[in-house]
This record gives sequence, structure tokens and C-alpha cells, in this order.
Amino acid sequence: MRPAAGIVTNRLIVALSVRNRRLLDGRLHAVTLKKVEVLFEPGDDVVNVLFPGAGTIASLVVSMRDGATAEAAMIGQEGAIGGIISAGDKPAFTRGIIQIAGPAWSLATDDLEEAKTHSHTLRDHVARYADCLLAQVLQSVACNTIHDIEPRLARWLLATQDRIGASELHLTQEFIAEMLGVQRTYVTRIVGNLAKRGAIRTTRGTVVIVDRALLQRQACECYAYLRRHFERLLPGVYGHVDG
Ligand SMILES: [Zn+2]
Repeated sequence: MRPAAGIVTNRLIVALSVRNRRLLDGRLHAVTLKKVEVLFEPGDDVVNVLFPGAGTIASLVVSMRDGATAEAAMIGQEGAIGGIISAGDKPAFTRGIIQIAGPAWSLATDDLEEAKTHSHTLRDHVARYADCLLAQVLQSVACNTIHDIEPRLARWLLATQDRIGASELHLTQEFIAEMLGVQRTYVTRIVGNLAKRGAIRTTRGTVVIVDRALLQRQACECYAYLRRHFERLLPGVYGHVDG
């Protein structure tokens, strides 16, 4: 984590009222996060909240003893990672990593808690986001259990595109396999299927979404369901790519 040079745009921060934003003024620090940077490990005290800027994506990842991993939630410019749910410094349950490098706002968890004591609308804003994050985790449980890898991958690519706002995603197939918790060879086959249908195109280390409408038709219902829930709780914050 190093100081950021440019302006950081995080939609959860942008949606704050002027009064609530003032409560955080001087406490938010712009930082730049590196790819695969580990934000916290399980058991670490979570002393910061990070609000990813446009194009930055962080993930909550659960790791097993044999090294297998799976993503529990993806967080971009619509949200925050770290001490956003618990009130105060609490140990992390998952690993927090940076999936796509970029800028973010960093805020001490203690500062957020202090600001929340002055504003019930700030508490409500944070609680609404925490509910959206929990919904994402709950949906992941059902999705991973019930849905096939192809619609899951389509959903995951759409969610990634929403957060970076571009059709070119710099992601290796190894990384996608780690996030979805499946074998790399499986991902290669499924990526090939989506490419054959014309939804995506791949080059080394990059997936390009060429037909988003088609990819949406390939995705499981979890994608639209989560987006709808987010829109109800925090209107305008999710900021997806299409209308
Ligand atoms: Zn699903």
C-alpha cells in the first residue's frame, strides 16, 4: 500500500451525504494497492477499512489447509473491505487480497467507528452495505452448491466488468480457477466454450467481453438477483455496466 497519485472514486463514499462525508474528512487517505497484495490474513486484527476506487478489485478469499482457495466475495468501487462490518478492530476470518491493482481510500476502523457515533444515517449507510456484502456471501454458498461452473464463470466475469467499467479484464486462467475454487484445466474448457459462443475472447492473461448481453444470458440468476438487492438497499451505488 502506497500513497495514491490521482483521485479515488468510490461509489459508497460518493453516495454519502455532505454531512457524513465531512465526518470522514481528513481521515480518508488515498492509497494505491498492488495486485495480489494481501490486505489481511485470517486472525489478523482488521485495523483499516479500504474503499476501492474505480478499476480496483479486492476479494475475500477462504483458503484450505491443502492450499485450495475460493472467493467468498468480490469488492470494488461499489463497496469496502476490512473493518466495515464489525464495530471496531476484530480478527479477520478470511484473507483479503487485491485482485486488480489500483487506487483506494484507506480509513482507520477506529475513525469510522468514531464517526458513526455522530450520525445514525452514516451507521445506516454502513449497515446497508454490510447487508449487501452478506447477501453476496450467502448467494455464493447457494451458487457454488447448485449452479454449474459455466454460468458461475459468466456471472463472475459480469461482476468483474461492473467493477472495473471496461470490457478488457486482465485475469489469468490460474487466477480465475483460484477464485472459483476449481481446477485450471476445467476453467480452460469453460472459457473455451464461452469464447466459441462469441461471448468472450481471450488472449494471454486477458479476457475480453465481446458480447455482454450474450454473457448475461449464459450467467446464472445469482448475478441479477444480487444486483437487484444492492439497488434496493443502496440505490445508484452498484454502478453496473449496462442499464
Ligand atoms: Zn449462481
